[in-house]
Amino acid sequence: MLIDTHCHLYYEELKNDIKGVLKRAHDLDVNRFICVATNLEDARECLSLAEIHNNIFASVGIHPHDAKDTPDDYVDQIIDLITFDSMVALGEMGLDYFRNITDPSIQKKVFRDQMEVAQKFKYPIIFHNRDADEDVIEVLADYPEVIGVAHCFSSNLKTAQSFLEMGYYISFSGNLTFKNSHLPEVAKDIPLDRVMVETDSPYLSPAPFRGKPNEPGRTRYVAEKLAEIHALPFEEIAKHTTENAVELFRLP
Ligand SMILES: [Zn+2]
Ligand SMILES: [Zn+2]
Repeated sequence: MLIDTHCHLYYEELKNDIKGVLKRAHDLDVNRFICVATNLEDARECLSLAEIHNNIFASVGIHPHDAKDTPDDYVDQIIDLITFDSMVALGEMGLDYFRNITDPSIQKKVFRDQMEVAQKFKYPIIFHNRDADEDVIEVLADYPEVIGVAHCFSSNLKTAQSFLEMGYYISFSGNLTFKNSHLPEVAKDIPLDRVMVETDSPYLSPAPFRGKPNEPGRTRYVAEKLAEIHALPFEEIAKHTTENAVELFRLP
């Protein structure tokens, strides 16, 4: 049994075939899903999906790309949304200096605003980090009580260790399976009680589906790659990654 800890099920290509998507995931032994928002509208879509399917859970947060478009009262809207039972995390929040769609100073402010909410309401966070290791570490360090997960981890081992020291989990996506990736070298040094798997679908299809639209069932291929890296049976990786997600997100 696996949990896809990060997917965007409200994207047309997934939402329009949600039954098929969930069935194919089930066939690959992927049974629970964290549907992650990137803005307030998405968060409401995640909640509606979670209302219909009891194995889908939701998050609410503002992605760094969306940070430039937030309404003035977005913090209050986030606080309203976290009162729903199926809302298990805040995110995705963070910094993305690769595309810099939002000015970095606004990205940082919106990230910090959400960290304040996480600290006050004791909610785990899902953070996004692209080419922003140092600044992300600086923000996280200012909120020592907050825990969460470094989603779609793509940095080096030193950064992973900083996240681990601050109590965060590390989640790998399809890019763990890419040819010539540095990530297997990183993954082998992440303790099994701190690792998770995800698809980030519809993005980042793992090998051998690279370049095609991704879907949650393919969490399976990420977990299989992790099993290969650790030279452990697949079941062992499934057990650890699932337990870790259940614990962090307090899943039933
Ligand atoms: Zn992301
Ligand atoms: Zn994402």
